[in-house]
Amino acid sequence: MNQLKKRFWQEVTAANSIMIAGHIRPDGDCVGSCMALYQYFSKVFPNKEIDVYFESIPEQFGFLESIQKSKTECSDGKKYDLFVVADSSDKERLGDAKVYFENSKKTICVDHHISNLNYADLNIVEANASSTAEVIYQLLEEEKIDCEIATALYLGIIHDSGVFKYESTSRKTMEIAGVLIEKGVDTAKVIDETFYQKTYIQNQILGRVLLESMMVLEGKGIVSCVTQRMMEFFGANSGDLDGIIEQLRLTKGVEVAILLVETGILTYKVSMRSVKKVDVSEIALKFGGGGHVRAAGCTMTGTFHDVINTLLGYCEIQMNA
Ligand code: AMP
Ligand code: MN
Ligand code: MN
Repeated sequence: MNQLKKRFWQEVTAANSIMIAGHIRPDGDCVGSCMALYQYFSKVFPNKEIDVYFESIPEQFGFLESIQKSKTECSDGKKYDLFVVADSSDKERLGDAKVYFENSKKTICVDHHISNLNYADLNIVEANASSTAEVIYQLLEEEKIDCEIATALYLGIIHDSGVFKYESTSRKTMEIAGVLIEKGVDTAKVIDETFYQKTYIQNQILGRVLLESMMVLEGKGIVSCVTQRMMEFFGANSGDLDGIIEQLRLTKGVEVAILLVETGILTYKVSMRSVKKVDVSEIALKFGGGGHVRAAGCTMTGTFHDVINTLLGYCEIQMNA
């Protein structure tokens, strides 16, 4: 880490213009990580040109003050000296921001996905870390972290650790969170308002998905689906589905949970979660996706039953191994 940290700061110091971006459909870790870097760089290097881009800004993250300064358009295709990517395991997940990756003189990727493809000039990837925010914290100087930066990092950590409960939560995660709390983070607000709080529509769609779920693999698996018709009926967008897969995973007796979200004709965005045996990242990788051992995703085509049968086949092989 020390060597990587040194190289990271060499690149950042040498650049006059820096663009920061995460992945498509930004989640808490992506937003928190990018905003922490954006605020830290802006504070430490007031004379550099620093920008941050998000495909969209989910409403629950709007409380981060500086997020209003972020770009949500990248058609300018500007050439930056340095492009820093946070929380994206491959180039495709950058979405439109890929143009900055291609055009920038230097690229750095900071991440924690076991499936990371090491696609940047400098890759700082810690697969054991709870979140990209945890990896970023280790690149920063503690005394330069103010309350706003700490809040962004804390946001990233709680989202990807499921509020400190997933396996990836370590002593280090908790110690970092402790430092951030001392910086004045309003922890109850961040946890309740960005993680647990649900809108009425989110509750309704969660209820519908749970109602239509099916137990499989003799009670060790659970599957469900969100169709485009359901999304239209509820007036929901993809962000309204956060947390549904976790509720499926928490079903008693379940080792693996799979949620298919219909994104087009015979096309599904697949979310997978496991409890302690199945390596869902390995399965997602077979279909061009990726993620972590206990949380992964990919896109697949076919009927609901074909996709589910294919995935359950791989789950069964691992469960019987
Ligand atoms: P999700 O089920 O969408 O919450 O994703 C769970 C984890 O898998 C996240 O860490 C994502 O970064 C990763 N992931 C989901 N979909 C993909 C994909 N198509 N390609 C690579 N990684 C993915
Ligand atoms: Mn993410
Ligand atoms: Mn992450």
